[in-house]
Amino acid sequence: MSAPAPGPLPPGSTIGIVGGGQLARMLAMAAARLGYRVAILDPDADCPAAQVATRVIAAPYADKLALRSLAEISAVVTYEFENVPVEPLREAVVGVPIRPQPDALEVSQDRVVEKAFLNGIGVATAEWRAVDGEEEIDHALHELRGDCILKTRRMGYDGKGQAVIRHRSPESGVFEALGSVPAILEAKVPFAYELSVIAARGLDGSCRAYDPAVNVHRLGILRRSTVPGEIAPAVAAEAQAIAFRILQRLDYVGVIGVEFFAQADGGLLVNEIAPRVHNSGHWTEAACAVSQFEQHIRAVGGLPLGDTTRHSDAVMENLIGAEVETAAALLAEPNAVLHLYGKREVKAGRKMGHVTRIAPRG
Ligand code: AMP
Repeated sequence: MSAPAPGPLPPGSTIGIVGGGQLARMLAMAAARLGYRVAILDPDADCPAAQVATRVIAAPYADKLALRSLAEISAVVTYEFENVPVEPLREAVVGVPIRPQPDALEVSQDRVVEKAFLNGIGVATAEWRAVDGEEEIDHALHELRGDCILKTRRMGYDGKGQAVIRHRSPESGVFEALGSVPAILEAKVPFAYELSVIAARGLDGSCRAYDPAVNVHRLGILRRSTVPGEIAPAVAAEAQAIAFRILQRLDYVGVIGVEFFAQADGGLLVNEIAPRVHNSGHWTEAACAVSQFEQHIRAVGGLPLGDTTRHSDAVMENLIGAEVETAAALLAEPNAVLHLYGKREVKAGRKMGHVTRIAPRG
């Protein structure tokens, strides 16, 4: 295995992606447009990305032999989700860069580490306490006052591993119900709206951000992202500045998603960071010359970052579960850009695709 040449990856190079879901599928499609090949490591040989990749290694994410094989055929290794086990990745992927560097995974895998990192670089979050049992939860509830949300520290996504707790009426057993695993108690933020920034940092340290999206979640899952949202220009600029600070402090290369709560007074709190392309950035595929997927491939490939200018207004909606059955009707809609993920089985709560409706700016 030879060390990769410094500078931009030449066309024909292979980019290795750990994880083969819809995000990897869209990354692979963007990589192909730039002349790259993609190898996927995923436990499921028929994962969404496998259908559009050159090579598939079907193995668990922590399988070091499989990770080594991925590194051997790749010029750079990246990942499409934050729960990739860090130690096997670090140990097995040698000789080729991992971008974004795995510290970013460590920070985003644990909600306590993440919030401590954010607060440590001067970024505000909801008030929080690390909690490891009922007694600590009672104590933290007392300190944080109002309603709170109990979340597992690790492996939470799309609102999974969470429970809302009312102030002063702690339901005993809530820690057990969450699996008796290390947890975080967060003050419930009475936010005015939620927004996110998709930003990127290149190998040369330059940063770019897309316009922030206003996001609506239902049952913890993203429903809709709207761009432009009703966001005061100063709030949008602040959100982008926070995303850039996070990118720089993590010495990050690639695309990141930063989710925020906007308070009624315009104050911003970061909810979480995703060290990868992000669902609330899918609209960029239809409304920007360079999508978040191409931007990530550019960044990890050492190419110049692309233009993040929005040429259209956009509303992206996820097609969840049986909603995918509306696909035929969506195809008939002018200005609706449909994207299906190639998942064979429709399941309740499963993201099957998305549609972005675009309109001229203004
Ligand atoms: P998460 O998995 O942490 O991104 O949470 C999923 C969704 O739950 C968020 O997008 C919010 O809508 C809601 N949520 C999570 N944490 C809080 C909080 N501390 N205060 C209010 N709402 C929250």
